[in-house]
Amino acid sequence: MSSRATKIVATLGPASSDPALLEQMFRAGVNVVRLNFSHGKAQDHIDRAHMVREVARRVGREVAIMADLQGPKIRVGKFADGKVMLEPGQKFILDAARVELGDIDAVGLDYKALPAEVKTGDVLLLNDGLIVITVDFVKGEQVHTTVKLGGELSNNKGINKQGGGLTAPALTAKDMDDIRTAMSFQADYVAVSFPKNATDMEMARQLCNVAAADFGHKPGMIAKIERAEAIPKLLEILLASDGIMVARGDLAVEVGNAAVPALQKRMIKLAREHDKVVITATQMMESMITNPVPTRAEVSDVANAVLDGTDAVMLSAETASGKFPLETVIEMANICRVAEETDNFKLEADFSGKTFSRIDQSIAMGALFTAHHLGAKAIVAMTDSGSTALWMSRHLIQVPIYAITAKVATQRKMALFRNVRPLFVDTSTDRDTALNQAENHLKNKGIVQKGDVYAITCGEPMGTPGGTNMLKLCQVQ
Ligand code: PGA
Ligand code: MN
Repeated sequence: MSSRATKIVATLGPASSDPALLEQMFRAGVNVVRLNFSHGKAQDHIDRAHMVREVARRVGREVAIMADLQGPKIRVGKFADGKVMLEPGQKFILDAARVELGDIDAVGLDYKALPAEVKTGDVLLLNDGLIVITVDFVKGEQVHTTVKLGGELSNNKGINKQGGGLTAPALTAKDMDDIRTAMSFQADYVAVSFPKNATDMEMARQLCNVAAADFGHKPGMIAKIERAEAIPKLLEILLASDGIMVARGDLAVEVGNAAVPALQKRMIKLAREHDKVVITATQMMESMITNPVPTRAEVSDVANAVLDGTDAVMLSAETASGKFPLETVIEMANICRVAEETDNFKLEADFSGKTFSRIDQSIAMGALFTAHHLGAKAIVAMTDSGSTALWMSRHLIQVPIYAITAKVATQRKMALFRNVRPLFVDTSTDRDTALNQAENHLKNKGIVQKGDVYAITCGEPMGTPGGTNMLKLCQVQ
């Protein structure tokens, strides 16, 4: 079992769709697989989901699946030649009414509302900010612009408005179809792109729960924080979600590159304080798309996200379409592991002035505190819903948390929690038998051995969600 606490989310794509390679990537440390619904057909995602489940079984460890919805990414249309080369100073028209393919003077838009939502002087960023154009004037369906920063613009590249302000709803008709697809294979998490308030997240959650009602499945909802409007609404979005993604790609374009590092730190802190999970995403190991080793800056970036307290670090094109998907996972896992050895635990500070109203949460915190100060070998949470493991994992300590559950869905969900190692054990409903089963499992896995002390929490009666009411300190005989 890996000694790493920080989790790795890897995006699947053409570079990582071979079962043998995927198996190696899982063994190297992938905890969560991201299916990116911006690319591919429904059947591609269904096939990949089945492959993930099967390879995970082979590896003997559950890997969570996160379905990432495309959302209302605002894009230019297609070009007759597939692309054009825009030169600084030239005029260029974005035309919502255009039906013919684009050329060097103008291109169509799939977001028809754009002309109504921009005005003279607005700055638009194309292709993740690589191309910058300013709006000269709007005439009917046409946005007339001047190119400030030129470059190659190809089919369907994204458009962002600096400072935000485009009103596209977070869930498109395609997203609603994709939710049904994702629920057909019971995706463990659904990531919503471009939410601007809590309502967007609540609506997405409702659609997921309805689509998965036949299986009694409820996916975790992840809000991708990637538009300027989401920043002032951060807390309400967070509270309506199970976690957030620091989606640095689009966010950087909307709020400016330089604002992102501080926002990342704020988001990670806020998420942990509110018992939510947080994923740090985009360009973490970007150069490894083409190179077998990361840059110093990338190593520092991943390590700093770990030190900030992120639950997970994410790989996008690095594993979806890069040349070195396996090497990237190996490198990233190693950076996380070494960064985690840095002692920046502030357990006392985390608790100072804090009160708890729930019995289960108090037991979870008691276990954490005791295990940390006792220098226990492990904390073991016997959990039905995963809540105790989540609470425990919101505080950084060196003692690993083993979460034992008899529910596969809970086991998978916990794959994203920092410092939680989920284990499936079909435990008895008799408490003493279950405690013995848990200890035997840990012994068999080599996690504890004779003489080791561990803290274990469970509920009586067993198997009731939210029923944790007992903490026991055990020494392995
Ligand atoms: P994307 O989201 O990769 O789906 O665009 C992540 C980001 O914007 O950083
Ligand atoms: Mn994005």
